[in-house]
Amino acid sequence: MEKFWNLDLSDMDSLMADRYSNFGPAPRLPSDMLRSILLSVEFKVTSYTKWAADLKENHLHAILSGFPVGDTPGVGTFYDFQGRLWMSDKDNLSNPVHPPKEKPKKPDKKGEKAPPVEKVSVKELMEQFQLHPPKDMAPCKRLYDVFKGLFLERSVQDGLVDLLSLSLAGDGTPVYTSAKERKKRICCCLEKGIRDCTCDRIYRQPDCNIGWDSHRECWYFGYDLYMLTAGYPQGV
Ligand SMILES: [Zn+2]
Repeated sequence: MEKFWNLDLSDMDSLMADRYSNFGPAPRLPSDMLRSILLSVEFKVTSYTKWAADLKENHLHAILSGFPVGDTPGVGTFYDFQGRLWMSDKDNLSNPVHPPKEKPKKPDKKGEKAPPVEKVSVKELMEQFQLHPPKDMAPCKRLYDVFKGLFLERSVQDGLVDLLSLSLAGDGTPVYTSAKERKKRICCCLEKGIRDCTCDRIYRQPDCNIGWDSHRECWYFGYDLYMLTAGYPQGV
């Protein structure tokens, strides 16, 4: 309760002002929407449908979010807010029409990670990013601004993160979206008896890949989440 009651996210309202029209009914405050989403993460409710229902029943969750009891946002308002954070008309970063991707090879030993299809280490990736910032990440820009302004810079101000003696730890983890990769053929090869052609297909989730989950030892379809954590060096 204390964590959320004292969470000042008011900068969010000025940061998001350009994403709202001056006309029409007064929208929910972006700061309240963000606080509510963070609260849903805290309670491990990962569906907006369930969270919107929860806010109606659980008055404490409504109050901590910043909403009056009995006047909480519906599911659509959460999706609308999420849409305003995404700076693109398209739902995905990648083009949904592309040829099939190369599947990673299954590792020989148990518990081993699959050899990467694109052989780039995180260090090499960071060096590339510094020289050529990825342009195709533009839809995420507002999210990065929110993270930097409201969380990272404030953590630095509060002395929780020391930029001069920063120690970073990183690890990747699979984020499952579905059991199967959904795609649709747009060529006529199958009618000619060719099953494994490399023609373009339409992908439902073009930003996802097939990967090998070394922990559960199975293939998965989804995202690769790489998380970096900043902590104090030992002894400080
Ligand atoms: Zn084909």
